[in-house]
This record gives sequence, structure tokens and C-alpha cells, in this order.
Amino acid sequence: MFEVKDHVAVVTGSTSGIGLALAEGLVRAGAKVVLNGLGDPKAIEKTRAGLESKHGVPVRYHGADMLEPDQIADMVGFAEREFGRLDLLVPNAGIQHVAPVEEFPIAKWNAILAINLTSAFHAIRAAVPIMKRQKRGRIVNIASAHGLRASPFKSAYVAAKHGVVGLTKTVALEVAEHGVTCNAICPGYVKTPLVEGQIADTAKARGISEEEALKNVILAAQPTKKFVEYDELTGLLIYLASDAGASVNGASLAIDGGWTAK
Ligand code: NAD
Repeated sequence: MFEVKDHVAVVTGSTSGIGLALAEGLVRAGAKVVLNGLGDPKAIEKTRAGLESKHGVPVRYHGADMLEPDQIADMVGFAEREFGRLDLLVPNAGIQHVAPVEEFPIAKWNAILAINLTSAFHAIRAAVPIMKRQKRGRIVNIASAHGLRASPFKSAYVAAKHGVVGLTKTVALEVAEHGVTCNAICPGYVKTPLVEGQIADTAKARGISEEEALKNVILAAQPTKKFVEYDELTGLLIYLASDAGASVNGASLAIDGGWTAK
């Protein structure tokens, strides 16, 4: 029931942070994975080859830029060309920028909407015909607690993540009778490079220590006052991807230490 062995998965933005951890979790469980994301080609190849040799499962990389619709569609097709099918799509790539709405750089707004929301649409658009043909498929968007709640100064990110939640529900209704599901995981704070940068910046901006910034500002929203761990996200992803998750559809599932209970 909880098997993903030999499943074929694409995880966007999997050269770092949550995406890399989810990709590794899938490979560990025996899935064949297409990695994607930006970074130094040598470092990416080292990661890819390392995962493949450590777990004895084929791992590929596709360098699609999440700003480029054609490249995104090609990445989805690449998974099918390489492995003959596509069981799981995880639109995960994302960026952040924090600024008051009246000062929010227009280019940053456009990039955040494009990478955090529109790239998921392009990937899903390309994946759905394959999954419908197979009469089985799973789409698991990595949204955020910010897909369910707002915070000040994150207008683009919150708008994009609320958009991902809406996209998730809509696609779920369209694919429901085809053996395909579409859900979103909504993590609270996870200690990735994206968040680590914010600790120092927040401490500096407020004139407080990094410890204070972490506890009283960054993790203030999260009742557990602890970061969400990678394996906790992987566990939910594998559940949703496996046969056990077949009836979970259109859900936006919070893993946030109680943040959105408030
Ligand atoms: P990260 O910065 O560690 O990783 C982001 C990944 O996206 C990288 O692999 C990067 O190369 C890739 N990426 C960025 N722009 C790209 C582009 N144009 N084309 C292709 N790939 C691109 O960040 P993370 O914290 O691991 O975030 C991953 C996802 O999880 C994001 O969608 C983020 O919004 C979401 N999320 C993160 C947290 C958190 O606390 N870290 C919480 C909730 C949701």
C-alpha cells in the first residue's frame, strides 16, 4: 500500500533544500527520479551520480528553467522518454522575496509568480495527458503554509502559493475519474538555504541576535517552535504517491507544527 518502488517521478527544484530531500527520499524508496534545478553543473552531476550509486536506482537530471514553458514541457516528456512512464510529478521549485507591497520590485513579483505558480501549471499541463493515458498518476504540489495564511511583506509569495492551492483543487476535479490525484503539501518553516538566508537578514534588520530572530520572529508563527523536518515531508509525499493515497484528492495538507490551526 505504501510502495513507490519503480515509480517514475519528476521533482522540480530538486538541486537544493526540500526538493533535493524529497528526491532523495523517493530514490531511497526505490523510485526512479528526474532531478531538476539550477546550480553548478559539476555539483549537480555529483548529486545525481551519488544518489544513483548509493541507492542502485536510475536517476536523471533535466535542466529546464522554470521560467520557460517549452523547457518545462520537455522535462516532463523526458521522464517518459527515459523511463517509459510518469507516476509522480512534484512541482516544488520556488523563490522568495520580502518587501512592502508598495516597494515590491515588479521583476521580483513576475519571477515569483512564474516560478512558484505558473511553472506548476506548465508541468501539470504536460503531465496530465500521460497520467490519464496510464490511468494512474499523482501530482503533489509543494505549496506552503503561506498557501493558507498570509504574512506581511510576502505579497508575491503568498499570492503565488494561494494560487497553487487553487490550481491543486481545480486539477483534482478534472483528473478525479482517471486514476490521477492532485494534492498540495503546505509546509511551515523548513531549514533550507531559502530560510537560512532569512535568519541573518531578519536579525540584522531588527538589531537582534540570530537566536532571537529564529525563535521570536521566524518560528513565532509555528506553535512547536521547531522547524519541520525533511523526512516528515517525505513521509507524506510517499503516502500520497502510493496506492494508500488514492482517495486523497484536491487536499492542501499542512505540515506546519500547528501554524494554520490558529
Ligand atoms: P531552495 O532555495 O533550497 O530550493 C529551491 C529550488 O528551486 C532549487 O533547486 C533551485 O535551483 C530551484 N529553482 C529556483 N528557480 C528555478 C528556476 N528558474 N528553474 C529551475 N529551478 C529553479 O528552497 P526550498 O526552501 O527548498 O523551497 C522549495 C519549495 O518549498 C519552494 O516552492 C518553497 O516555496 C517551498 N516551501 C519552503 C518552505 C521553507 O521553509 N523552506 C516552507 C514552505 C514551502
